Amino acid sequence: MLYPQEFDVIVVGGGHAGTEAALAAARMGSKTLLLTHNIETLGQMSCNPSIGGIGKGHLVKEVDAMGGAMALATDEAGIQFRILNSSKGPAVRATRAQADRVLYKAAIRRMLENQPNLWLFQQAVDDLMVEGDRVVGAVTQVGIRFRSRSVVLTAGTFLDGKIHVGLNNYAAGRAGDPPAVSLSARLKELKLPQGRLKTGTPPRIDGRSIDFSKCTPQPGDGMPGGMGDKVPVFSFMGHAGMHPEQVPCWITHTNARTHEIIRSGFDRSPMFTGKIEGVGPRYCPSVEDKINRFADKESHQIFLEPEGLTTHEIYPNGISTSLPFDIQYELVRSMAGLENAHILRPGYAIEYDYFDPRGLKSNFETRPIAGLFFAGQINGTTGYEEAAAQGMFAGINAALLCREQAPWLPGRDQAYLGVLVDDLITKGVTEPYRMFTSRAEFRLQLREDNADMRLTEAARQMGLVDDARWEAFSRKRDAVSRETERLRSLWISPKNLAAAEAERVLGKAIDHEYSLAELLRRPDVSYASLMSLDAGRFASAELPVGNADVPRETAEFSFIDAVVEQIDISAKYSGYIDRQKDEIDRAAHYEHLKIPAELDYLQVTALSFEVRQRLSKLRPETLGQASRVSGVTPAAISLLLVHLKKHG
Ligand code: FAD
Repeated sequence: MLYPQEFDVIVVGGGHAGTEAALAAARMGSKTLLLTHNIETLGQMSCNPSIGGIGKGHLVKEVDAMGGAMALATDEAGIQFRILNSSKGPAVRATRAQADRVLYKAAIRRMLENQPNLWLFQQAVDDLMVEGDRVVGAVTQVGIRFRSRSVVLTAGTFLDGKIHVGLNNYAAGRAGDPPAVSLSARLKELKLPQGRLKTGTPPRIDGRSIDFSKCTPQPGDGMPGGMGDKVPVFSFMGHAGMHPEQVPCWITHTNARTHEIIRSGFDRSPMFTGKIEGVGPRYCPSVEDKINRFADKESHQIFLEPEGLTTHEIYPNGISTSLPFDIQYELVRSMAGLENAHILRPGYAIEYDYFDPRGLKSNFETRPIAGLFFAGQINGTTGYEEAAAQGMFAGINAALLCREQAPWLPGRDQAYLGVLVDDLITKGVTEPYRMFTSRAEFRLQLREDNADMRLTEAARQMGLVDDARWEAFSRKRDAVSRETERLRSLWISPKNLAAAEAERVLGKAIDHEYSLAELLRRPDVSYASLMSLDAGRFASAELPVGNADVPRETAEFSFIDAVVEQIDISAKYSGYIDRQKDEIDRAAHYEHLKIPAELDYLQVTALSFEVRQRLSKLRPETLGQASRVSGVTPAAISLLLVHLKKHG
């Protein structure tokens, strides 16, 4: 049957990439259909019940700054929040939350069901409709044909998925879900560049069988004993009042006996016996991989993380494994507190198809098939956050394609999303790709705290941001700029500041006149301390920090905290950031210099044959992208530039 309505954008897959893709396209006004195996699993977390972390939290904040769902859903579902790296510089500080799976899925589903321009349909997609070199829709398992102008494929770990537990294996998309076998075969027919990757998950444990008195509690920020005194919030539109009850996690350790048990299972490990061909994530290794690679390490920390408020299920973070079940049983029971543990679900590894992202254009449209976009784990990444960011990106670009507008391509200096997309399309992946702050050369300006300042305006212009978010953002942006100006206009001199007061706040007396903005650039001077000078004589009425007459201590991060944080960080890092901006400006011309699509690299004889071959295969769209292709040296880029200038 041909479905009577036509769509602008069809999104296949209701995981983290698919849900953000569908929401973004629909927010932009595209008539969007989300086709997924099962409506009950919309927004399902396949593995760990947590969102964020270093590099990943940055992506979540960016998705949020553009009106996406992940951060708000986490604020509604988060049962423990922490700021990681809180004692380090702001560029590497990151939010992480433990989420209640049920609440998270419910929040995502509610957002999807209430999104105008978005339709949901439960059915496996087995085929794509392709006419010439253009996708025109998708066909479901029972033959329903949905027509559309673009399709965003976000099939996650499902394409030809195969689960391994010891030497046993079976076809599945993840535990409890079917694989997508027909669609995988169809994509192979279309000759898109493809490979196999793998990932794994730990066994889950019934909390009632754990002796927590033998484990160390790990409270979240804002909880008694927690590292930070305020409860963090993920979304720029969120507040701690949205969070459900906060609970601790627990820590136990592997020991010599655990390691012995794990080693005794190596001969039945699908990883070590060659049953698994796909490459796994080096940064998130299975416990057997850790014991094998770091043989002299005597113990590893294992975090016991609650899966939710209405279940006893515990996620033991750190023992992801595909060893046989008898080994899993023994290894779990060898750890303190877990002597009588009951395993609720066995751990497993999953192998699946991914597509080489170097086969995508910069907007994530596949090169050979117009209108077909890929996003999420299918592009060789791992992680909910990486998937969500890519999904939103592909959804935006699919909607722009339907509007016949130019794609939205954030730069590496603008967003982690820009780094992620650029890394994928220029370098490809050799193992599941995850985000780290070290991947971003301009990370000083790509902070969590300023994701809204970097992206909300662009998102508003594309129609992604609603009025409430825009008003909240504008209020913050204007307050920051008003206060920054005020600090520039307030001066103190040795004459009007008592030496003792200068000593208290600035560490020593001042020798000449300074503006408060200048003083704030000093590493040990904070906005709050400046505002406390002379009993708050400089304190602002709008931001009553340091003004003793206005009580404002709250246990949660407030609007005032957000504005003050922005002013503080911008002042402290302004020197570095200005230098970085100069670098970016100098590089910008070449970064965005277009390489003609029809350029015949084989004729650019100044380049080595290897470089010519590599570039003709990958066909970068700009000189900046060419410079990041592996094996392409700065010297080769200069030669290519000379060629472009001569023939341009
Ligand atoms: P998914 O979340 O997998 O969602 C795919 C969606 O597409 C599902 O809703 C599915 O039903 C639907 N779908 C697929 N094919 C079809 C079709 N043909 N028709 C209709 N619907 C379809 N990440 C980490 O960061 N760390 C880890 O340690 C980690 N371990 C993992 C362990 C396991 C066992 C698994 C399965 C995943 C693990 N992940 C891990 C990865 C994480 O789950 C993914 O990165 C993330 O969920 C990817 O999001 P996605 O939207 O791309 O795909």
